Amino acid sequence: MQKEDIYSEIKNLAPQIAYFSMEIGLRVDLPTYSGGLGVLAGDTIKAAADHELPYVAVTLLYREGYFRQHLEENGQQIEHPVNWNPSNLLIELDLITVEVEIGGRTVALRPWLYFVEGCSGGRVPVFFLDSDLPQNHKDDRKLTAQLYGGDKRYRLSQEIILGIGGLRLLSMLERRMILNFHLNEGHAALLTLELLQRYRRNIEETWDPDQVWDYDRVRQHCVFTTHTPVPAGHDRFDYGLVEELLGSYIPIDVLKRFAGDDDLNLTTLALNLSRHTNAVSKCHRDVSTLMFPGYTIKAVTNGVHSPSWTNKEFSQLFDRYLPDWRRDNFLLRNAIMIPDEELFAAHQSAKKRLLKYISETNSVELDPEILTIGFARRATPYKRATLLFSKPDRLRHITEHYGPLQLVLAGKAHPHDEPGKKLIRDIFTAREQLKDLIKIVYLENYDMELGKLITGGVDLWLNTPTRPLEASGTSGMKAAHNGVPNFSVLDGWWIEGWIENKTGWAIGPLPTGPTVDEKSSRLDADDLYNKLEKNIIPTYYHKRSDWIEIMRQAISFNASFFNTYRMLMEYYMNIYSFDPPVRTALTHRHDH
Ligand SMILES: *Cc1c(COP(=O)(O)O)cnc(C)c1O
Repeated sequence: MQKEDIYSEIKNLAPQIAYFSMEIGLRVDLPTYSGGLGVLAGDTIKAAADHELPYVAVTLLYREGYFRQHLEENGQQIEHPVNWNPSNLLIELDLITVEVEIGGRTVALRPWLYFVEGCSGGRVPVFFLDSDLPQNHKDDRKLTAQLYGGDKRYRLSQEIILGIGGLRLLSMLERRMILNFHLNEGHAALLTLELLQRYRRNIEETWDPDQVWDYDRVRQHCVFTTHTPVPAGHDRFDYGLVEELLGSYIPIDVLKRFAGDDDLNLTTLALNLSRHTNAVSKCHRDVSTLMFPGYTIKAVTNGVHSPSWTNKEFSQLFDRYLPDWRRDNFLLRNAIMIPDEELFAAHQSAKKRLLKYISETNSVELDPEILTIGFARRATPYKRATLLFSKPDRLRHITEHYGPLQLVLAGKAHPHDEPGKKLIRDIFTAREQLKDLIKIVYLENYDMELGKLITGGVDLWLNTPTRPLEASGTSGMKAAHNGVPNFSVLDGWWIEGWIENKTGWAIGPLPTGPTVDEKSSRLDADDLYNKLEKNIIPTYYHKRSDWIEIMRQAISFNASFFNTYRMLMEYYMNIYSFDPPVRTALTHRHDH
């Protein structure tokens, strides 16, 4: 495509939904994501493209990516910048420059463009903002280098670029009013300030200082998705720092009215200036409602983009039995008709592909006939990656008396998350202690490609978060798309997808409330071991047809529902729609 054509295409955009996200994970060689939030963003955009929805998306161009993970002998994580060349995949829109003021300096931003192509010709433009321009101060050139790198000042600068810079970019391009700005997590919330500026009334127009800022109008155009109950996931900044970076852009006393009294809380800002707020599962809605009293929080349970997360073996099977499943993911419910032999053969073939990868990268030979448990997620304490190893003797006893197990793990720890890094070392220690009985591999550098290989190649997908901190989780949905049953703590999406002995198994009780129950770990571990012993291992080895039935039901019940097709329909019906009418008065609420 010629560049002139691209400029004319984007100048003629008429998007109705503008999706703002700090990270977007579209493909493994576009390393502008760290984990679940980014992958969800990417999956959402892909589904929008499949269904030719009028979307546009904005994020940042991270020239060093998040990081590439290397693990030492003892499990110590070493972080390396990712080497990639944006011009291999993205189009630099060098005729366009957007400017923002940060800390008294003008920072010029260059958009790079990527078109996400849908399965029937639709395309969604994704803009990546880049501050690495020669006219910028040398420190400012680094502002978009790293995802989640740096300190508070760095983070706030990036959020200014995303929210304010992103909106300025769209203002240059859009031909007609965007109906909904979708704030994917609070990171993007500063765009509400730029909207306030855009809709600002002249004092001569109103003669009332209170009427200068048109909150209602801003609120009519913004919707907000909150993604985590974990406090560290909600960005807060000292008003001192805000003033330093934003200067007189917006009076702090105005900001305090809707962004928190004590500090700038991006979640509070987003809650106050959005028409709708949603959480990412029903359980997360209930938890968020208690965390943010006074706000109406809806639930739109996450999904995954089915064609992206179904491996090639199952894609071929679905193409044969459920033509058109890629566009209409609801057809996956008819997977119930796929014969045992074909389903299991597809799985074994995917499993062997994973084992081959493990043999090549880690020189460990796993056995395709042994029940293989997978666990891959961010290494951070609430995910409790070591719960399975909490009673090593019990685990030994189980494998000796009920049937053998092998384990495949992966996951990065955030560079500043020391307890998370220690978890990886602890797993390496457990691996040494158990090595005579159970083969355990920890794969380096968990990314989208590895995620697809593991979720589709193991026999059972394990998840053991501390209730109720897992807002949704999506890797278990990927597993379900490949006929892999879940074995998980009842939290996030799994409360909705769990049918005991039909789609997988639960670990521990349902959450009882919003508080973290630290004492539950022992009980959860006991339940985990009991179910392995009494239920899961015997079914896998001795009731193979029952096992295959569960695999099939995982697809029929869960892949057919926990996908971005259903998710986007819910966004359209419940979040993007303009009914019921918007609130009229800004009610100031305190910070949480
Ligand atoms: C799907 C995915 C995630 C999110 O999975 P969770 O279940 O939320 O942990 C994280 N990282 C990668 C690389 C993924 O592919």
